[in-house]
Amino acid sequence: MSNRLARLRALGIESWALRSAPEVAAPSVPRDFHSIVALKGDPQIAEPQVVAAPLATGWDALREQVAACRACRLCETRTQTVFGTGALQAPLMVVGEGPGADEDAQGDPFVGRAGKLLDEMLRSIGRSRLEPEPDKAVYIANVVKCRPPGNREPAEDEAESCRPFLEAQLRLVKPKLIVALGRVAAQRLLVTDEPLARLRGPLHRWGPEGTPLFVTYHPAYLLRSPGEKAKSWEDLKRIHQFLVSASA
Ligand code: URA
Repeated sequence: MSNRLARLRALGIESWALRSAPEVAAPSVPRDFHSIVALKGDPQIAEPQVVAAPLATGWDALREQVAACRACRLCETRTQTVFGTGALQAPLMVVGEGPGADEDAQGDPFVGRAGKLLDEMLRSIGRSRLEPEPDKAVYIANVVKCRPPGNREPAEDEAESCRPFLEAQLRLVKPKLIVALGRVAAQRLLVTDEPLARLRGPLHRWGPEGTPLFVTYHPAYLLRSPGEKAKSWEDLKRIHQFLVSASA
């Protein structure tokens, strides 16, 4: 066994293939593999090194993999990763853009002002992240799991590095409906450059099983543009109707 392999084993990293990588993992991370560990300061290994590991398929392992992720530059500035919250088998999965300062400090998505508004929006259609009734439960996650500095938009390579994690969450939750909050989440999930105005409205489909997906305004945008709340309410009613029909 090589020294390097022995060192990886000592770190509890079994049978992961090393691949050489630039400082920031390229967006071409294979579909079912994810680069999660950069080993620094190890004289045996030219730095930085990224280890490709099979993407975890269960919740606990996935959460650990996210917490250890160093696949992009956002790991350098995060306080902690922000994995996701809510019911693990919710009929509704809400996807935001990425953690802000409050989320970075607390480790949960949507806990700041936008989060309070999101909670109100969900409550207005009888749902919440803490809802014990399975039919009304919600799971909330973001496109990227680490805060982009200064709350900037996640860069393409950052979002692509994180894509396998979000897709794994979507596969585990298996929601009846996905709601993308804002342009960034919508464009990333639907792999398109279309503007929000065109994405909001129609029913889209996500993934191999064609999971229904609606796009609506991000609550942070609604805080800046309260005049759009009426349109947001129209979206919420459509989301509610869809979920009621889907569970009938
Ligand atoms: N905005 C997001 O998109 N996600 C969060 O978790 C918080 C604010």
